[in-house]
Amino acid sequence: MKFALLNGSRIEAIKGVNAQCTICGSNVIAKCGKIRIDHWAHKGERNCDPWWEPETEWHRRWKNAFSAEWQEYALFDERTGEKHIADVRTADGLVLEFQHSAIAPKERTSREQFYKSMAWIVDGSRLKRDHPRFLKGQSNWRKTGKVGFYLVSFPEDCFPALWLDSAVPVVFDFLGTDLLANPGDLRNSVYCLFPGRVGREAVVVVMTREQFITIANNGDWIKWVDNFMNGPSHSEREQQTQPSQPSLNARRRESQYILERGRWVKRRRL
Ligand SMILES: [Zn+2]
Repeated sequence: MKFALLNGSRIEAIKGVNAQCTICGSNVIAKCGKIRIDHWAHKGERNCDPWWEPETEWHRRWKNAFSAEWQEYALFDERTGEKHIADVRTADGLVLEFQHSAIAPKERTSREQFYKSMAWIVDGSRLKRDHPRFLKGQSNWRKTGKVGFYLVSFPEDCFPALWLDSAVPVVFDFLGTDLLANPGDLRNSVYCLFPGRVGREAVVVVMTREQFITIANNGDWIKWVDNFMNGPSHSEREQQTQPSQPSLNARRRESQYILERGRWVKRRRL
């Protein structure tokens, strides 16, 4: 963890100092070494949040794009007694989880259900094959009427299978811990895979990392996703995803959805 409590204040790890865990209140010790980034650790290898993963430089960079009081935000479910630390929770209640390691599908679903208003930010640089596959798959994306919005017939050709049926947006970051790439390098953008499908196609939104950070900070991201998920044609879109298995040509003749002023609108294909 980046933060622990000392005399009631949240502080970062300082060599030789002991403090209290923000979740369980037990003693944590500062780990300040050369291999891992400075952090607080429970004694032994135990951690009170089973969802916690060891942090990397990549995590810290993302966390630090948000204000310190939003980072490592403890959330309690009074009904079940569950406690978890969200990587970031904004003033608008948006939880961001920065995921570097592999995660079991069941745990992914549990976290989505616990945090509800959330987005995953996935480190697409962890596996060497992921970025080349993405670049290859990206050549088949179709533009929509809105800049940066694409329809993707075969998202499995672009993204790891684990994330394809997520119930919340998944934002892929292929830059890893590299310094910012040259202008024009596609890794300066992040790629947001939306939940659900439009017809049979996935929706991917491309924006720069800075744009994402800005709209996550100022609350526009929540409005934006809400608009997409709860737009007037959402239920129709859901129905379209039911498996009737028409041929590809038949599917191409079906109506499509285009974005107009941030809303999905049904249009007949010509
Ligand atoms: Zn603890």
